[in-house]
Amino acid sequence: MWKLFRPDLYVQDIFQIDFKYLKQKGIKGILIDLDNTLLPWNSCEIDDKLIEWIRRGREEGFTFCIVSNNMARRIKTCSEKLGIPAVTSGAFKPGKRVFLKGMEIIGTSVNETVFIGDQLFTDVLGAKRLGMMVILVKPLDESEFFWTKIIRRLERKIINFMKRKALF
Ligand SMILES: [Mg+2]
Repeated sequence: MWKLFRPDLYVQDIFQIDFKYLKQKGIKGILIDLDNTLLPWNSCEIDDKLIEWIRRGREEGFTFCIVSNNMARRIKTCSEKLGIPAVTSGAFKPGKRVFLKGMEIIGTSVNETVFIGDQLFTDVLGAKRLGMMVILVKPLDESEFFWTKIIRRLERKIINFMKRKALF
């Protein structure tokens, strides 16, 4: 059961991700969560550091696609601003369909795709149900949807438990 909640890597933020390492693992496509992973919750302010990160990723040969559970309008605005396609099919994580749709957009298979996100019950669980590589990042911001705050407490417990058991 732990397998479904266990990220392959756990890092502070997206900037700690080693593109070269992903390449070595045969990864070609990056499906990425929006809120608290790429941008603070409900913010669409994009700074140069983020633009540079995306540029560097592309230079290394990766294709990106946003997979978010937020409202279609917000996803679309950020997707256009960032210049990254997004899944707007109305499917939600941890359902498999939204991940499959993302891979279809960037044209990669499960083995060639990594998912990057900040939540265990949507991002990690959803991607792991398909057997995808997952990188968990610490949430960018404390402010978020009230329900997420409740979920966070449980997530922190599970993450600490997995750390104690040296599961990652
Ligand atoms: Mg998120």
